[in-house]
Amino acid sequence: MKKSIWRILTICIFSTLLFSSLLACNPDSDVPSGSDLEDQITAIIAKIDPATPSTYGAPEEIIDFGRDSVPIMLELLESPDLPSRYAAVYVLSRLAEPEDIPEMLVGLEDDDFGNRATIAATLIWLGDNSGIEILEAALLSDEVLSFSHPPELLADYARRVLDEAPQHLPSLPGFDRPGGAFLSAPLQAPLRDVTVELEDCTIKIVVNLQFVGAGATQALADSWAAGIKDMWEGVHCSVCCAISITVNTKVGGDPDEEYAQVTVIQMPHAGARHTSNMTLGGTVMEGGGVNNIVGEWDSNDTPAVAAHEVGHGMGVEDEYGEDGKPTGEAVGESEGDGVPSIMAQTWKDKEKQDTEAKARHVDQILAHHGIECPDKCGCIATPTPKFGEALAGFFVAFFEVAEDPGGHGPFTDLPIEQYLRVEVTDAIGPSTGDIAISAAAPFVPVYGTIVDGVFSATGVGTVAGFPNISVLFEGSITNPLAGVYTLGVNGGLPGGLAISYNVEGTKDAPLEEPEATEEPDEVVVEETQPVEEPETVSAMQLVETFSTELVNAMQSHDTTFLFDRLHPAVFDLYGEDACNVYLEGVAGYSQIVALDVQGPEAWTWEIDGVSIPLEDIYTIDVELTLPEGKELISVLHYALVDGELLWFTDCGEPLP
Ligand SMILES: [Zn+2]
Repeated sequence: MKKSIWRILTICIFSTLLFSSLLACNPDSDVPSGSDLEDQITAIIAKIDPATPSTYGAPEEIIDFGRDSVPIMLELLESPDLPSRYAAVYVLSRLAEPEDIPEMLVGLEDDDFGNRATIAATLIWLGDNSGIEILEAALLSDEVLSFSHPPELLADYARRVLDEAPQHLPSLPGFDRPGGAFLSAPLQAPLRDVTVELEDCTIKIVVNLQFVGAGATQALADSWAAGIKDMWEGVHCSVCCAISITVNTKVGGDPDEEYAQVTVIQMPHAGARHTSNMTLGGTVMEGGGVNNIVGEWDSNDTPAVAAHEVGHGMGVEDEYGEDGKPTGEAVGESEGDGVPSIMAQTWKDKEKQDTEAKARHVDQILAHHGIECPDKCGCIATPTPKFGEALAGFFVAFFEVAEDPGGHGPFTDLPIEQYLRVEVTDAIGPSTGDIAISAAAPFVPVYGTIVDGVFSATGVGTVAGFPNISVLFEGSITNPLAGVYTLGVNGGLPGGLAISYNVEGTKDAPLEEPEATEEPDEVVVEETQPVEEPETVSAMQLVETFSTELVNAMQSHDTTFLFDRLHPAVFDLYGEDACNVYLEGVAGYSQIVALDVQGPEAWTWEIDGVSIPLEDIYTIDVELTLPEGKELISVLHYALVDGELLWFTDCGEPLP
């Protein structure tokens, strides 16, 4: 049974390559014709039940008939039956060619907004802008795109289509996404497609996904893996235990039986319709493993869609039905009471709350895998302190040269006694998180991970006058702190030889000083280390505060704040009008976490082919979270003007 599936998949991929056409994937060698074809299409459409989301993908079977189906689908655009018209726009969004444009125009009159928008999007792809006003109106709609799975907002669909075709809509500049590497999950030894095991009070889940097909790319795999992890990591079952999830991905290659096979269909354009799916839970094997999970996703799928589909792969069911309306417990959550469910929708609610995975979903996963959510952990009676709280704080640390074969010691200027600020943030599991250790210069701040009190963190900075020197700080931090701080691990110091210090420290104060203390951090730093200026700490505080204000303004569309805090150089370059238009549509970030701050110092803004020299600029290494949950490491610049921070952005086309 399994073998024959692989054969069909292999044939599909092969024929796609051979005919360089997405339409050649047809496992049946002879397509029916005439009334036989019409009968088969009618039978396929009869499977579509508006109340059952799992049936929305039925038109995919019509796609398999190729262009032979198009004349029938063009006629169905005028059918009185909604599922028939939906099937028609679905198939045409993938198979239509410019010669079909005149007959497709009737679809712009469809009673269903989603159908009208899909035809409008397909027409744009074919070079016809007749439906542009429908998509502009869809941007303002709060309706759900009909027959979408998982449900997508019509406005999100329209935004995606218009972002892909910005030349058609000069008044809506696209959001300039910063570059950088995506964070992806660590690769662990693969088990089965999806395994769920209870270890003490942790629900350990490993999801192995192999993406095959014309649309499978590493970039998509990485962003989906990050989206899945963000959604499911740390979610508790209804009693107490939390999930620790590992997502392993492969792109292409021979089918690996340890990996769920996900065929990724290459969508011809941003508005092309496809209904992604994943078999619910697969087969539970003897011993608890689960195998034979198969999915079909597409290249337009967002990280939220991936998180929803993997929910199905773990054994969770949809929480929405007809017209994209939430069902069961998701009803209230999607209507202002609580936080919306990822199994019910993919968009933020009116209070800008992102969707989340729920305790009841974890219960379903455990039940599906025959595991009882135990109440022995006692997490509810005595909640364990938030990970990191006990570890974070200020440490008085002593540095002693351990190894210095290059004789750099006299030049590094590193004080014997240092006041270290240790932050443990963004916990990603019950014993695992991120750690940031900073101190006054010339200490080079480091950032890394911490597991069970053992940390490994790296940084890059200026050492003994040499820039871009790599630094490694490894050790344990359970008070006392003990570790080794090594400068020049990349061989950047003269002679290529590194210098390492043994570090021992004891905790002096928690990070948050009591309210009663005035100017907490600065006073503490001055008392302990009067020689060093307290500037490093206050610069970080300034940057953190402004980053939070910036994110809040982006989330609440506070364009006044965003405009007022833009640097004058931005207005000189683009003009105030262009920036106003840009800010109206800015998607922004969901979170900015500052990892390291340099400056204030001179900096040249290189933008749109122009070089603008500026003074008093902070350069900040940041971890950004994009609205769709994607995380990336990037660099931001803020300017210090009259004690206030200002930001920079690309408002579109520079003034002539
Ligand atoms: Zn679903």
